Amino acid sequence: MAKLTDPVTMLKGVGPTKAKQFAALNIFTLGDLICHFPRGYEDRTKLVTIDKLQPDVPACFKAMVMSAPRTAHIRKGLDVTKITVADATARLNITFFNQKYSAEQLQYGTEYIFYGAVSGDFIGYNMTNPAFEAVTSTPVTTRRVLPVYPLTAGLSNGAMLKAVRQALAICPVPEEIIPESIRRQYGILPAERAYYAIHEPASMQDAELAKKRLIFEEFFVFSAGLSLMRAARAGKQVPAYSKLDLTPFYKALPFLLTAAQNRAISEIAEDLQKGVPMNRLVQGDVGSGKTMVAAAAAYLAVSNGKQAALMAPTEILAEQHHHSLSRLFAPLGLRVCLLTGGLTQKQKKTLREEIAAGQWDLVIGTHALVTDSTRFADLGLVIADEQHRFGVAQRSKLSEKGLDVHVLVMSATPIPRTLALIMYGDLEVSVLDELPPGRQQTQTFLVNEDYRARLNGFIRKQAQENHQCFVVCPAVEENGELDLKSATVWAETLQKTVFPDLRVALLHGQMKGSEKEAIMESFAKNEADVLVATTVIEVGVDVPNATLMVVEDADRFGLSQLHQLRGRVGRGNAQSYCVLVSQTKNAETRARLKALCSTTDGFKIAEEDLRLRGPGDFFGARQSGLPVFRVANLSCDLQTLQQAQQASKDWIEQEGTAQTPESIALRSRIKVLFDRAQGTMN
Ligand code: ADP
Ligand code: MG
Repeated sequence: MAKLTDPVTMLKGVGPTKAKQFAALNIFTLGDLICHFPRGYEDRTKLVTIDKLQPDVPACFKAMVMSAPRTAHIRKGLDVTKITVADATARLNITFFNQKYSAEQLQYGTEYIFYGAVSGDFIGYNMTNPAFEAVTSTPVTTRRVLPVYPLTAGLSNGAMLKAVRQALAICPVPEEIIPESIRRQYGILPAERAYYAIHEPASMQDAELAKKRLIFEEFFVFSAGLSLMRAARAGKQVPAYSKLDLTPFYKALPFLLTAAQNRAISEIAEDLQKGVPMNRLVQGDVGSGKTMVAAAAAYLAVSNGKQAALMAPTEILAEQHHHSLSRLFAPLGLRVCLLTGGLTQKQKKTLREEIAAGQWDLVIGTHALVTDSTRFADLGLVIADEQHRFGVAQRSKLSEKGLDVHVLVMSATPIPRTLALIMYGDLEVSVLDELPPGRQQTQTFLVNEDYRARLNGFIRKQAQENHQCFVVCPAVEENGELDLKSATVWAETLQKTVFPDLRVALLHGQMKGSEKEAIMESFAKNEADVLVATTVIEVGVDVPNATLMVVEDADRFGLSQLHQLRGRVGRGNAQSYCVLVSQTKNAETRARLKALCSTTDGFKIAEEDLRLRGPGDFFGARQSGLPVFRVANLSCDLQTLQQAQQASKDWIEQEGTAQTPESIALRSRIKVLFDRAQGTMN
């Protein structure tokens, strides 16, 4: 028997070329192949008679070949083979294009099973390129439920089918991780059956059951992982904070906090006096002022003699937090430092020594902060900004390090409530449902290339009014295959030919950390009029003087992502604009973009995104820091997710510490999942 970790190249018919194609789909091992699930199925189980065939509806039928196949060579590259078939109800003409070899195997006077759709009117019914098999053959393309796999260039569904079938024949499927009691309660197939049935379902219903089991399994693992983290933390003790006076902090603020900010801060203050580690999520739309909530929490930790750490997902954001918070806290006597990958080894070493000696109160940095090399003198609070990028992996890493600290995570991704419950099942939630006063709604427009001249004029107008503009492109470099705007080239074009008199800057993710910081800082100081960037600026960047966000090839981005990008403007008191440029004619895509033009409510947009793309994409790989859900991409119903979550709670209660084979296997799967999510951060 082969193992799940064996390479796909051990399969018959998988040489270097196939291996490369599989690699493009992230399939390297037999396990990957067995976990490469169909994206859908074609029900080819039912046989109909020829007279019941409906135009354009593919179906299976049994028919006898009534004429020997005749091939005509029309021109180079075009062979046409014709036959006539019949059953007791009707005759049918079939045409094969460029299938001379296989079509000529059809024997005059023999019955075959065909699968195809007729076209044309009733009198002239015709069928082209049906699949067919001998009546006595093992069903492969007819008389079965046919899985349809996600594929890549050069790799056919048939080749995928064959490889998967071989793998299943020589390799055991992943072991069972769901206890029998839970399987029975939720009507869940055993692992062995599900992994077979997802690839070789006996019926559509069988496929549905398999799918349900695998989605359930995936979320069960995830949810059980969160539950384990939560249980581990609930048993811990930390000192209860007693100094909770925020008056000096409020006095130092340049503005009054919103009611929502105040509410979140009191919820945090309450957590901090309980003596158990806080585990709270602050969820608020872009621009709702989460940073000040974080600052208040940090102030409380420091007031109680502790250090606080603020982790940001990007260097730019860390730099920006450092900039604004060191200014805010200096008069209050709080010592704020910045620890990012941009520092030299020597600088990092010195800073780490000082942190370990307790010379800094608030340490701001990227995820380097959670790596093992940073030690704190007395860490009391960890704040993770823009949580959806930071991911559960970091949360688990913190608790693994045995840091019994308060944890505050902040997310601007307005995840629909149901999903939030699952994603953040281990957290309490505070919601900032209010924007600071005086904000005007950002006006959003969808335009195509016909508006280019007017758009350029509009950018110039903003610059003349001393405002700034972001231009976001989907790619860093020119890419021959996809005709997308590249930030590098577009920045040059704008500077050289469109706005020679304006200051155009460029920012993208492939730049060095220090370089990015310098550019961002200079843009924040209004030293450039236009910043052409990739989505590195998607998260958190705060330049209140910027009033225009232009997104090129907007159809390339998800709704929630566009909403994040739009959130980069409208942060000051001037009217701001977002212009989505897209040439797409696809009605659905245009509707999606239009939806963004008509609302600025992040939660509504998230719901719409969820409706359009399904939870699979919501948890998708794009958002690094989250585990990648494979089956969920099949599209899944929230009910299954909720059941899986409930089941994981049952599991913790009933046998969380038990050493049953399922529980042991489950624990190791949890570790793999969370480690993989961790991997996507590095
Ligand atoms: P986000 O929730 O997106 O992280 P920020 O914390 O970056 O939002 O705040 C957005 C902008 O609003 C910042 O410029 C911040 O200084 C400002 N701000 C925050 N709270 C208030 C408030 N209560 N009144 C006025 N401006 C505020
Ligand atoms: Mg923020």
